[in-house]
Amino acid sequence: MLQDTNKRLQEYNTSLQQYNSNLQADVTKNGETITKLQKEKNTMVETMNGLKDHANSVKMQLDLAKSSQNEALKQKNELLKEVDNLRSELQQVREDRDHKLVEVHSLLAEIGTYKEMTGKSAVELDNVMTRSTALEEICSAQQERIKLLEVQLASTNEKLKRSDLTTIESMTEYEKQKRMSEDLQLRLEEAEQQIIDGEKLRKKLHNTILELKGNIRVFCRVRPLLSNESGAISYPKSGENLGHGIELTHNAQMYAFTFDKVFDQLASQEDVFIEISQLVQSALDGYKVCIFAYGQTGSGKTYTMMGKPEIHDQKGLIPRSLEQIFQTSQTLVSQGWKYNMQASMLEIYNETIRDLLANNRTSIQDGGISKYSIKHDTNGNTHVSDLTIVDVSSFNEVSSLLKRAAQSRSVGRTQMNEESSRSHCVFTLRIFGVNEGTDQQVEGVLNLIDLAGSERLNKSGATGDRLKETQAINKSLSCLSDVIFSIAKKDEHVPFRNSKLTYLLQPCLGGDSKTLMFVNLSPEVSSTGESICSLRFAARVNSCEIGIPRRQTQIRSLSQG
Ligand code: ADP
Ligand code: MG
Repeated sequence: MLQDTNKRLQEYNTSLQQYNSNLQADVTKNGETITKLQKEKNTMVETMNGLKDHANSVKMQLDLAKSSQNEALKQKNELLKEVDNLRSELQQVREDRDHKLVEVHSLLAEIGTYKEMTGKSAVELDNVMTRSTALEEICSAQQERIKLLEVQLASTNEKLKRSDLTTIESMTEYEKQKRMSEDLQLRLEEAEQQIIDGEKLRKKLHNTILELKGNIRVFCRVRPLLSNESGAISYPKSGENLGHGIELTHNAQMYAFTFDKVFDQLASQEDVFIEISQLVQSALDGYKVCIFAYGQTGSGKTYTMMGKPEIHDQKGLIPRSLEQIFQTSQTLVSQGWKYNMQASMLEIYNETIRDLLANNRTSIQDGGISKYSIKHDTNGNTHVSDLTIVDVSSFNEVSSLLKRAAQSRSVGRTQMNEESSRSHCVFTLRIFGVNEGTDQQVEGVLNLIDLAGSERLNKSGATGDRLKETQAINKSLSCLSDVIFSIAKKDEHVPFRNSKLTYLLQPCLGGDSKTLMFVNLSPEVSSTGESICSLRFAARVNSCEIGIPRRQTQIRSLSQG
């Protein structure tokens, strides 16, 4: 072991000796380097000193440059300021320029308009000039005319003065004319009144002439068509038969008739009444008056006689006659007349009298004795026993009476339809008048008779009792015609007693009385057969002279004495 360690220490001593020789080499080497570096350091110091001198001179140059730079900066700032000033000035100048430019433009535009205006004005001026010359010409012409007119005016003034005078004259003339025309107007009115009065007088005289002729007057009345059926009646459109003629076509043949008056279907109830009002008037004057309505059933007899008393336009002859009688009797009061009136209304069916004003209607024969027996007294007045007589002094009383009559007639109608068209209805108004002043008395009678239907009965359909009955009914109508024709022939014996109707009316038929017959017609083609019969009968009646009527008046003192 120790050998090992001595060996290793020997090795280590050799390495250290090695290392020491190395280090010796290094030291020599470094000594060389240091000398070299020493030399280099000396050169570098020398160079550094040269550089130091150079730096100083550069520094001096830098300072110089710095001061000159400052100077330059100052100058630059001043210059900049100046530039700014100049800029603002320039701006101002520009603005001024722009402003001026605008002004220039507007001035240019103005110049343009002025130029235009000048052009126009020149034209206008030309026009005005021409016009003014024209006006000057006119003016001179006018002056000429004015002179002329002045001359004319002078002459016109002269004329006016003259015409003023004429105007005054004309005014007086006008006044005169006006008075004359007023006078003429008055005379015209008077003349018109005279014409009206004349027309009334004419009617009266016409009636008187007819009366003097003594004929029974006949008026024909045609009712309007009631169905779609065509009519068979026409009238003369002109000539002397206008208003008097009637033409009926039957089996392609024309039949013409004339009567005292013909009323077509357009005639109103008033038109008809106007024509008979004179006759009604005569009843107040003391005449006996009979107005008959004749015609087939449905031809308008009842419409003509009674109409519909409650409807103003449709009132028939009975209500209208009563109205007129009451009115006239009122006006006659101032002349001292006092009137008393009695009305009765009866129906004759199959020779039996029915009292239409009775409260309890009993028309049946009573124990074989006819309840309503007819008697004429010596004064020519007729009395029917048990008949209801109603004193009437006002139209209101009569209208309630007419209502009563119409009611009892309609009862009869529904019960016995056949009877109503086969019975006569007689309305009688007796009028007693006394004049206290003159002591005069009058006694008139107005009979308004709605006759039974005139149609011929279909004899083939009726046999035995029925035939006898219908014959009896028809008999009363033929009795009436017998009586009329017998009076006309002036027979010794007139068969008044052959029927109730003729016996009842005896004092009112013939010479003492005024008789008028309406022949009523249905215009339908289907009625022409009956219409011809009615017209022929009426024409015969029309030609009958039955005498001149007499007024029944007397002086009271004489009659009493
Ligand atoms: P008659 O009594 O002859 O049988 P009516 O008087 O009853 O006939 O008339 C028959 C129908 O004819 C009734 O409905 C009546 O109102 C109408 N008539 C009659 N005459 C006219 C007339 N003139 N105007 C309008 N209607 C009438
Ligand atoms: Mg009738």
